[in-house]
Amino acid sequence: MYIYAADCYCDACGEDIKQRILKELGKKPEDFDDERTYDSGEFPKGPFDDEAESDSPQHCASGEDCLDPTIIADNNNGEDHVVGHFFENNLTTTGVEYLKDMHKNQRSEITEYWVDYYRANGYSHEFPDTEEENDREQTLAAMSEEELRNCLEALCVAIEDQADIVPSRQIIEDAREVIKQWGLQ
Ligand SMILES: [Zn+2]
Repeated sequence: MYIYAADCYCDACGEDIKQRILKELGKKPEDFDDERTYDSGEFPKGPFDDEAESDSPQHCASGEDCLDPTIIADNNNGEDHVVGHFFENNLTTTGVEYLKDMHKNQRSEITEYWVDYYRANGYSHEFPDTEEENDREQTLAAMSEEELRNCLEALCVAIEDQADIVPSRQIIEDAREVIKQWGLQ
């Protein structure tokens, strides 16, 4: 990632901007060898770590003209969204809150893309898989009290017998939920 004129650019765009400026100004790369001698407003500085923490998901500032764009599929089989290269940067606490808020209030294919990425890359506790959760709640709601009681009893028997069944976290959570709802504790 390069910083130029107060924006972040991917490596491909950063290199491209560098070459363009060198050509325009008739300067040589050596003229910009030492980053301390120039300002990022006149010539790109970098490359920096793409994954550094930020207060929001970061993309290359070239947008749809990016030389290494990120393509986000359109859910309605329309045209794919071409956006600036996604840096896959880590998020600060503010960044997590920002994304949660945006995904809730301005949900779009882009926020879904970000949430999917962060959910799969270390932020699953911040962005739980709600569809799976909804399915689970519906299954629980659809079961009769008797069915639930039978499941719970089968689980208790399996645990008491120390059968070769290792209950998944989900089963235990469901059982806890049932126990709580029925006041069985
Ligand atoms: Zn780019």
